[in-house]
Amino acid sequence: MAFESLSDKLQNIFKNLRGKGRLSEADVKAALKEVKMALLEADVSFKVVKQFISSIQERAVGEEVFGSLTPGQTVIKIVTEELIKLMGSETTEIALKPASEITVIMMAGLQGAGKTTTTAKIAAKLKAKGRKPLLAACDVYRPAAIKQLQVNGEKVGIPVFTMGDKISPVDIAKGAIEHASKNGFNVVILDTAGRLHIDESMMEELIRIREAVEVYQTLLVVDAMTGQDAVNVAGTFNDKVGIDGVILTKLDGDTRGGAALSIRSVTGKPILYIGMGEKLSDLEQFYPDRMASRILG
Ligand code: GDP
Repeated sequence: MAFESLSDKLQNIFKNLRGKGRLSEADVKAALKEVKMALLEADVSFKVVKQFISSIQERAVGEEVFGSLTPGQTVIKIVTEELIKLMGSETTEIALKPASEITVIMMAGLQGAGKTTTTAKIAAKLKAKGRKPLLAACDVYRPAAIKQLQVNGEKVGIPVFTMGDKISPVDIAKGAIEHASKNGFNVVILDTAGRLHIDESMMEELIRIREAVEVYQTLLVVDAMTGQDAVNVAGTFNDKVGIDGVILTKLDGDTRGGAALSIRSVTGKPILYIGMGEKLSDLEQFYPDRMASRILG
């Protein structure tokens, strides 16, 4: 995609203003119009953009243009700082219980978002940290789901607990935890069913699992390529089921990743990881500062 970078656009706007001591309201207005366009192009939702721009406006007017920065760079600096703040400032790790206990992580997401792949990716990360993960095949509806989890599990050397597709996901979850406690596993990751669209029965099933076993973390997997849909999915899951964190997949594609900003703003929950490819090692920690630069382009 051939975006003119925001920084170039702002340099143009401000080219006559070099040397000014402070940003005037008119300077800031002109610059923020470009920032607004950049954010919308990056797929940040309109509501979030509006709130963001008005909060920036207040901060930027009267701001001193100091040192070696041009007015354009000063605006970008402010915008970047505020974006980072909105996305949570720091990286967030998956919360785990002490290694002597079993941490149950429930994965949720729409079909195709990358849930099964991400389940194996996360398990591999936790294994590398010295944990002993077990994957549990709780998607009994999609014919190939169990097999896919087994194939992925094998690739990362992590066992998969399955009871076939005739048993309820709740019983499979219970069975997996029992198996874990008898066999020395200290993380159980439940790969639950995804549907093409959000539906009540899917969310009810997640709630039933959580009522039956002690889920420590509920993580939602969303596809960054779907932009606003990803934001809606995250908002609905958070309201109806309650989530603890989000994994944003397919950021190796050409999306600018504005969904990251909207998701954080809509749910208030941290983005833990980003999916950067189909390989099981393609999972990276989420860094708000890097995402801010990516969003601004
Ligand atoms: P699920 O239906 O949510 O379990 O989704 P899958 O795990 O089966 O993933 C759907 C497709 O997306 C598969 O072809 C994956 O290889 C692919 N996929 C998952 N995560 C990523 C990612 O971060 N980047 C890319 N490019 N593809 C991904």
